[in-house]
Amino acid sequence: MPAEKLNPTSSTSPRQRSSTTRTGSRLPAFPAIHIRDGSVSYRLDWNGLSFVFGGDSVPNKWFAKEAKGADVVVHECFFTPEQWMAIAGFPYKEAYWVTTLIHTPPEGFGKLMSMVEPRMAVAYHYWNHRDVELEIFEKVRKTYDGPLTMSDDLTVLNVTKDHIEVREVTFNHESWPMGTSKEWDTAPRSEPATGLSSDWLLEGKLEDMNPPPTQPVE
Ligand SMILES: [Zn+2]
Repeated sequence: MPAEKLNPTSSTSPRQRSSTTRTGSRLPAFPAIHIRDGSVSYRLDWNGLSFVFGGDSVPNKWFAKEAKGADVVVHECFFTPEQWMAIAGFPYKEAYWVTTLIHTPPEGFGKLMSMVEPRMAVAYHYWNHRDVELEIFEKVRKTYDGPLTMSDDLTVLNVTKDHIEVREVTFNHESWPMGTSKEWDTAPRSEPATGLSSDWLLEGKLEDMNPPPTQPVE
């Protein structure tokens, strides 16, 4: 997920970066543990309901705290090492690293949800392939027996104080995506990123191929 980079040298608490949504609710971010600094998770509170979304991570203390008792808690649920060996052809050591040291395998997801006890636990990040998803479900059920959604693309949750409905969207495949909002169009922008491409790569660019801009672009 795109993540605002947290400043590891800052003296403020990890839950330091938050933005305000259009409805005026705060959207605090807190750290996730995934390979390098910068991965985050989010919590949204709105109208007495709470939603927590975990970025890629091993189970961590910030998530356990922020997600405790929340209404809808979404966390990654990755593969087992054995599944990843079969799917990706990795040797065990590397498969264990990917599935268990930088991601959360099904049993870990289940343990975390047993600790957090949400009204609805939502698992994502595994592939919804028939040959692996049932085993992932079974492994989650070894460590968690509460409400559970094994999510897919376009899974929708309708949440009220006394009911959570899990549905799957059907939609018109020929529809255009929604346009951006005026707020997004006019939001202040940071400086463009530089130094992301190596010189050898930029030197591969063919000059004078694309038309120059006809309006100011700086
Ligand atoms: Zn991942």
